[in-house]
Amino acid sequence: MSTEAPKEPVPAKVFAAAVYECVRCGTRTTQEELAKLPEVKCICGYRVFKKARPSVVKQIKAI
Ligand SMILES: [Zn+2]
Repeated sequence: MSTEAPKEPVPAKVFAAAVYECVRCGTRTTQEELAKLPEVKCICGYRVFKKARPSVVKQIKAI
């Protein structure tokens, strides 16, 4: 019986919400915010978003 190092549980639900970034002006918004709008549209009027890295969530803190 070999002693294995205990595997750390993989955090599967780390992401709070998917973050999207407008490809035109770079404004970031969350999927949650977009869901509140009648249509998926940036404040600049552009509708094309790209998915931003979820790691930015860590940098967003209460100012
Ligand atoms: Zn925009």
